[in-house]
Amino acid sequence: MAAPRAEVVIDLDNLRHNVAYLDGLAKDADTMAVVKADGYGHGAVEVARAAVEAGATWLGSCSLAEALTLRAAGFTVPILAWLDPPGTDYTPGVEQDVDLAASSITQLKDITAAAGKAGKTARVHLKIDTGLSRNGCPAADWPALVDLAAKTANIEVHSIWSHLAVADEVGHPATDAQAERFDDAYREALAAGLDPRRHLANSAAVITRPDLHLDLVRPGIAIYGLNPVPVPADLRPVMTFRSTVALAKRIPAGESVSYGLSWTAKSDTNLALVPVGYADGVPRSLSNRMHVWLAHKRRPVVGRVCMDQIVVDCGDDAVAEGDEVVLFGSGDEGEPTAREWADTTGTIDYEIVTGMYRPRVARTYS
Ligand code: PLP
Repeated sequence: MAAPRAEVVIDLDNLRHNVAYLDGLAKDADTMAVVKADGYGHGAVEVARAAVEAGATWLGSCSLAEALTLRAAGFTVPILAWLDPPGTDYTPGVEQDVDLAASSITQLKDITAAAGKAGKTARVHLKIDTGLSRNGCPAADWPALVDLAAKTANIEVHSIWSHLAVADEVGHPATDAQAERFDDAYREALAAGLDPRRHLANSAAVITRPDLHLDLVRPGIAIYGLNPVPVPADLRPVMTFRSTVALAKRIPAGESVSYGLSWTAKSDTNLALVPVGYADGVPRSLSNRMHVWLAHKRRPVVGRVCMDQIVVDCGDDAVAEGDEVVLFGSGDEGEPTAREWADTTGTIDYEIVTGMYRPRVARTYS
């Protein structure tokens, strides 16, 4: 088989390990593996299969379409879909037993209409905004939402839920404030005659806030082995991004490299051309600011990142055409990590791995 041009390798053993570890941290709660955005760029169906094998009893997606893809792949566990625009026809979701989130009366009515069409009860998770000011029902509108949900015949309220804003900043007082508002929302739901379960915890809270595990936890990034908190956790990165040296050459001192000639060799040096670029997910802003793992060493990428090419300075070391290049991986041997890319480019590793969901990059599973 030809060496890969641009490929992410997904280590499903590591993913299973992470899910089992997180499930063990939250042993009194059920575990929902969050596999939205094609499993944070890792492949939703493959990730979901491994996560369920490792103990996840729920799957979480953003859109209904993502949830239906999982159903079509044969998953029978509960799947929660949490965000679609007004007017969405939830009928296929109700028909296929997808749990649906409602943050507003409009959404609840859309779901109720779908339940009517499907001739089935829809299972609903009412979402309260406890301070993120994003998806979720504002506290002022919450009593009306829980009231309507309690009175609507073809709706079963499974849970109330919310999402945390700063759980990754351990000890931040806003998390406690959100938990208090969530308690208020729970009391209001009970007062409306509901008896819902509760869920609140993302990865950061699974690791650092056992008091917020409640009935169900919703880890995303941590199942992919990326730790969102500066607290030790037994997580193993799942994605490795790799390529292959396409061309090796020696240039004399004084020659410059890539568009803009922004790097000049101080002495004669060996260069390795790697056939990946910003079209494959290598941020152009990493030009002259990144390393790769090649022939057992970290080596600098010199000159600009192009659409399909980067150039690596190998000094006097002999590197061969066909050698494997790791763009980012676990970091265990010293190879760069997705976190390192994120730190250098001013983003988060979530964006780096999710950004690898692109047709030019092959995906294989190990
Ligand atoms: N729950 C909801 C509603 C989310 O939107 C997300 C991800 O953004 C998660 C859980 C998982 O969060 P994390 O990846 O930080 O664990």
